[in-house]
Amino acid sequence: MYKICAISDFSAAHMLRGYKGKCENMHGHNWKVEVFVSAKELDEIGMVIDFKEIKKALNAVLEELDHKNLNETAYFKKVNPTSENIAKYIYDRLFAQQLAADGRRLKVKVWESDTACAIYEE
Ligand SMILES: [Zn+2]
Repeated sequence: MYKICAISDFSAAHMLRGYKGKCENMHGHNWKVEVFVSAKELDEIGMVIDFKEIKKALNAVLEELDHKNLNETAYFKKVNPTSENIAKYIYDRLFAQQLAADGRRLKVKVWESDTACAIYEE
């Protein structure tokens, strides 16, 4: 299995509904997002997928979250903006843009601090 990774980041505020503790209050993170794409076979020029394609799709998704209060965005009005749910949201958006097409697999890792991350993959 071949696997490649592209990294980007965004800054946003959130507060966790139903959480008993400091994180129920508004606060911010600089989230780091790692996107992994893997494939059993490389394409005809020896790539899993062009890094440019991943970065273009990823940056379009993160641009919509950057410097927002996540709780006020359409998706996270209904879904609690935990790092787990942010990872799933980014996964779904990238999946919809065909990053997992042609037998490729996708994995999204979201770091909310240097020592805590959440991963979504299927
Ligand atoms: Zn937080």
